[in-house]
Amino acid sequence: MKKILVLEDEANIRSFVVINLRRSGFEPIEAETGAQALEMLKVNPDICLALLDVMLPDIDGFEVCRRIRASGSKMGIIMLTAKSQEIDKVTGLMTGADDYVTKPFSPAELTARVDALIRRLGIDEDEKANTEIVSGPFLLNTRNRTLEKNGQRLKLTQIEYLLMKLFMENPGRAMSREDILSAVWGSEFTGELKTVDVNIRRLRIKIESDPTEPEFLTTVWGYGYKWGY
Ligand code: CA
Repeated sequence: MKKILVLEDEANIRSFVVINLRRSGFEPIEAETGAQALEMLKVNPDICLALLDVMLPDIDGFEVCRRIRASGSKMGIIMLTAKSQEIDKVTGLMTGADDYVTKPFSPAELTARVDALIRRLGIDEDEKANTEIVSGPFLLNTRNRTLEKNGQRLKLTQIEYLLMKLFMENPGRAMSREDILSAVWGSEFTGELKTVDVNIRRLRIKIESDPTEPEFLTTVWGYGYKWGY
């Protein structure tokens, strides 16, 4: 999963961004201050993109941006600016940011900008090489995030898509519910294991001919699930 740094001191905006990135299949790394952001970047050298708020309690987002570029990093950088900070956009782009999003923004706008920047920077090259996973009658396209069964498009939620991707990438492997929970919902998710069962049940209704006798997504009793095809 691609890691995205989220630097934002306002907790409610930060969690809004984090939830939406996670829903889109990214792994958000949170930071509340500029100093914390720089520390997170050191600990997670594989962060491919950073969302930087401008107004912070310590150093501002532009300074963080400047330091990221000074370190030689070519990661994608999107500044999160407030409307009254129009002028900041110019400064931001001059300090090496790739794009900016004006607050308040919708989840769709944010993910569209993130996806566009990832495409533009070629960060998803590893996925380009292998955008299709085929398993039996199923074809999963990881670029369009779509699933077909016998050539028929199946409508999936983001969670269902992530579940399918996880299973189709690990054919024949028994996955524990804990593994599934942390792979799909993120390691910080503190929900119940039942969440996995509920979503698997829904997914089976979409992908199995007879959801009560699953042929593909089988149960490993007392443990978890397996892509059995
Ligand atoms: Ca702020």
